[in-house]
Amino acid sequence: MQRREAREFVLSLLYRHEFVETPLADLLDEVDTGDQRSYVERVYLGILDRRAELDALIGERTVGWRFERLALIDRNILRLGAFEILYLPEVPPQVALDEAVELAKKYGTENARSFINGILDRIWKESGRHAGAEREAGCRGAAGEAGATGEGPRGKRASAYLRAKERLGKAVGIAVERVSLTSPTTETLLRTVRDLACDPDVPALLVEAPLPDGVDTQAIRDALPLEKDVDGAGTAALGRLLAGGGGYLPATAEAVVTLLHSYGIRIAGRRVVVVGRSLVVGRPLALLLLAEDATVTVCHSRTTDLAAITREADLVCVAVGRPGLLTGEMIRPGAAVVDIGTSSVDGKIVGDAHWASVSEVAGAVSPVPGGVGPLTNVLLLEHVAEATERAAR
Ligand code: NAP
Repeated sequence: MQRREAREFVLSLLYRHEFVETPLADLLDEVDTGDQRSYVERVYLGILDRRAELDALIGERTVGWRFERLALIDRNILRLGAFEILYLPEVPPQVALDEAVELAKKYGTENARSFINGILDRIWKESGRHAGAEREAGCRGAAGEAGATGEGPRGKRASAYLRAKERLGKAVGIAVERVSLTSPTTETLLRTVRDLACDPDVPALLVEAPLPDGVDTQAIRDALPLEKDVDGAGTAALGRLLAGGGGYLPATAEAVVTLLHSYGIRIAGRRVVVVGRSLVVGRPLALLLLAEDATVTVCHSRTTDLAAITREADLVCVAVGRPGLLTGEMIRPGAAVVDIGTSSVDGKIVGDAHWASVSEVAGAVSPVPGGVGPLTNVLLLEHVAEATERAAR
């Protein structure tokens, strides 16, 4: 029995409980595996035990609705969602909420569906589960001073990238803790990262770029121990990637390949051009695409006649940081374009592809904002979850 079925089974038990007095042991015989059986028992009995308390909590938030007048199925979906959010630490609150909404869509009454999400969201936000979640996983982003204070364009960028990770971390129950230094130098940052590297309570580390001028970013990344280097940024992780894998993959490069797979865009055997050769994006991406059997050309600022090269490609991945660098005339009709660039122009985030002309010619193009950026953060947090699990073993 899958978790989904187990939840549905709990709902059916709660329903039957209203009408028949069957001993739980008999009902539980319908559940086959040990794991799900213990979930069903824990949740079903937990809800019965705390029903008055749960009903009062939900009732206070059903503004404009009388809880006791709701259909039994809606009440039970709310009880189940609230119970998981409040009392099951192993279930991320966002998952509990999403699954309750899914149950509401499948079984709930039409009237109640719209507010089940809202009520459970409030219960989660007011539950302090965010604070509790911090014990579940940790990822510290070491940012430069400007990143902390928001001074200067580089610091503002690092700070914005970290904020997006903090937001996503909060949503999935992973604590992203920012460590910022005043007037950081390579030495002070190295000391900080080395301290964090030895901290057993920190399973994952990330150095958020750009760091201030004069700081040796790669030296800082090289201080990350392989098992905590969740963005595969240190030389050890990059070496593993070159040799065929083993460390965490650089999340942006992984996001590009994941995106291509999920949209069914073939990589094997195709001519791919990667524009940009940085250690964080361009080079790892070229290696990943090569590992996927593409024929890869890497271009950079010294490439002559970039357009002639990109026009030959079935797929162009652009990671430069120059808005509008890639135009429609530079690509073959029907080619796919993955835009990795992110720059701020007049307060708006834009990519490297000139959207209007590229989207006219390309068969597929990833948007900015959206596309690679959010997926990168999701993969990064997946790595954090994995590092947390490994550290706990
Ligand atoms: P970077 O370290 O500055 O590297 C830029 C690369 O672009 C360099 O290899 C550079 O060549 C090349 N380049 C510069 N001008 C060029 C031109 N006119 N024609 C062809 N190539 C040119 O930047 P990065 O860290 O790789 O980041 C690149 C972009 O991706 C930025 O916009 C960044 O914000 C974005 N990014 C996005 C994510 C995400 O998750 N979405 C993650 C990381 C970065 P040289 O090597 O010759 O200097």
